[in-house]
Amino acid sequence: MEELKQIDVRVIRSRKRVKSVAACLNGNVLEVRAPLALPQEELDGIVEKFKRRLIRRRRTEHLNSDGALASRIDELNKRYFDGKLQVSSVKYVFNQVKSIGSCTPKTRSIRISQRAAELPQWVVDYVLIHELAHLIEANHSKRFRALVNKYPLAERARGYLMALEIEED
Ligand SMILES: [Zn+2]
Repeated sequence: MEELKQIDVRVIRSRKRVKSVAACLNGNVLEVRAPLALPQEELDGIVEKFKRRLIRRRRTEHLNSDGALASRIDELNKRYFDGKLQVSSVKYVFNQVKSIGSCTPKTRSIRISQRAAELPQWVVDYVLIHELAHLIEANHSKRFRALVNKYPLAERARGYLMALEIEED
């Protein structure tokens, strides 16, 4: 695939990141963070996969851009949280870890795995609501569940993700 060669990749080997490889798009460069000890061959394979995902993403960019994600978050914030939540950033990431979303309450940033772009919108909405709820409750307590369950399709969405062996964070 010719497109594969056109993607610039920057690999950052990190002592700190021990378990997983993750990547994000910085301008036009795919920045890949990898454990120091990961064999080059294995990393090459992973980078290749990320590049393919990136190409797929570009093909559907008009539907699945970070901008579209941000406006969806806005809408869900209004609908389920009275628009009270402050989100500093929401973006797609390419990562190898199993979880579909993650939230850092401290920086109020939300990251959604690129794989979400392949899920139906009602499931993506659930994932976004889950991450939004973490801005209020960092854990999966009863209070957290109550927040998420305001979304009528929450239970079905959990089942859907489970069936695909996709983990919530
Ligand atoms: Zn969670």
